[in-house]
Amino acid sequence: MDCKTARAQIKDYVEGRLELGSIRSFLNHVNNCEDCMFELQTGYLVYEGIKRMDRGDYFDFEKDFEARMKKSRNFVVLASRAKFGLILLVFLASLGLVFYGLGIFTL
Ligand SMILES: [Zn+2]
Repeated sequence: MDCKTARAQIKDYVEGRLELGSIRSFLNHVNNCEDCMFELQTGYLVYEGIKRMDRGDYFDFEKDFEARMKKSRNFVVLASRAKFGLILLVFLASLGLVFYGLGIFTL
């Protein structure tokens, strides 16, 4: 992902509208690009800060931003594991059908 694409996705990321694949490449980019990380922090402060102020909530930017990044990383890891688990399940089910079809074992 390049800087232009990453910056275009900041608002969608903050508002939770990116899908898994995009979140993964977005996080990969911002974690390795100081400029985009700065843009993300600024965007988060603006979009999230305004929303919180409207609701009259207390807003601890650093703590809140860190929690958000951690949540995103966990989501990516969990979703990847779930996807791997599903692929494994489909693979094992297919293997079972093949063996069943070959008559190696019967149900
Ligand atoms: Zn960048």
